[in-house]
Amino acid sequence: TGTLYVVATPIGNLQDITPRALEVLRSVALIAAEDTRHSARLMQHFGIATPMTACHDHNERDKGERLVARLLAGDDLALISDAGTPLISDPGYHLVRQAREAGVRVSPLPGACALIAALSAAGLPSDRFAFEGFLPAKAHGRRQRLQDLASEQRTWMIYEAPHRLLECLDDMREILGGERRVVLARELTKTFETLRNAPLTELADWVRGDSDQQRGECVLVVEGAPAPAVDAVSAEAERVLDALLHELP
Ligand code: SAM
Repeated sequence: TGTLYVVATPIGNLQDITPRALEVLRSVALIAAEDTRHSARLMQHFGIATPMTACHDHNERDKGERLVARLLAGDDLALISDAGTPLISDPGYHLVRQAREAGVRVSPLPGACALIAALSAAGLPSDRFAFEGFLPAKAHGRRQRLQDLASEQRTWMIYEAPHRLLECLDDMREILGGERRVVLARELTKTFETLRNAPLTELADWVRGDSDQQRGECVLVVEGAPAPAVDAVSAEAERVLDALLHELP
């Protein structure tokens, strides 16, 4: 049986591909790519001539079966997406699952991932965190999700499309409060890489006032909500108890 390699590719700077990723992409029988035309540029840049086949959200289940058959027949395959780590807000889940269910070895080749890159440089607590992918595209769904996230105490991250960034920041300011700190991590590893850490009021105004900030790719890293004030609750309980004790004969 062959191996399915899940290979991370760069999120901007092509030098971020690992030597091992290049070696595997050169040596496998076939590369399953989210968009073969998009990935052709990467392959061309590194002089890789391995055949590619499309494996994306719309054909993944059927394609998965055929790819698993090839793995079972002994071929090694690589799975890549347009950028970063496959399966992270990208296709690949069905293929990986089908391969594992068929008893095929699945091996990750770690590398670039926008949310981890953003978190690593954001300067917000990173000991525990949550990734929320893309928020729903429509306003109602997005606001609902933000309500659910408002009390999340861990640092959390979302991916956002540039044309929705401002709307999203405005909703966040309203629902999470203008004081909540957010880091906008934009165009990571690229020429115009920007990381800006500011309270939501300031961040939304800054993005509104500078249309350059409304372009390119971005991750939002959001400071968690403060822990509920347990001390305040117990202080109140103590006060009540105290008052009651005084009432006792
Ligand atoms: N699989 C990718 C990963 O490992 O990060 C994510 C794919 S998802 C379809 C694309 C989103 O990732 C973009 O909309 C943006 O939110 C984020 N992203 C990708 N590259 C980025 C970069 N260079 N800087 C900031 N965000 C990026």
